[in-house]
Amino acid sequence: MSAYDPSNIFAKILRGEIPCTRVYEDDAALAFMDIMPRTDGHVLVIPKVAARGILDMPPEALGPYMQAVQKVAAGVKAGMNAEGLTLQQFNETAGGQVVFHLHFHILPRWEGVAVRPHSGAMEKPELLEGHAKKIRAALGV
Ligand code: 5GP
Repeated sequence: MSAYDPSNIFAKILRGEIPCTRVYEDDAALAFMDIMPRTDGHVLVIPKVAARGILDMPPEALGPYMQAVQKVAAGVKAGMNAEGLTLQQFNETAGGQVVFHLHFHILPRWEGVAVRPHSGAMEKPELLEGHAKKIRAALGV
């Protein structure tokens, strides 16, 4: 496995060098809207520690991080009035990973509504903020 590269885009978001549409933050994790959502309300949850993927995540940091993933998942489901959730986590290029800082995708799901293919198109900031507002309200933050 390659070493963690602190110049990745999510590390820049963590350091506040690049903006994001935030939905949740605690000591272990930051959650924000995916800029190219595969479903409405698609959220990413990243740990605050430097980990490339699930395999190099310090085991002692995994518990608090996964608690944040669970909490945000509940907020996404409630805030988006979803019927279900899909969680995804990719490791290395062969595993489908594009950004090399550990992250879970949280995708709210509804019966009969497919996950959109990767379009490469960025969503309108006001639409992301509208979804984030509902999710933050459900999380009580
Ligand atoms: P993965 O590495 O799991 O394949 O996917 C990375 C995800 O990060 C993609 O869903 C992509 O849309 C998202 N993404 C890439 N760059 C940015 C960015 O600058 N801001 C945000 N909010 N999401 C991003």
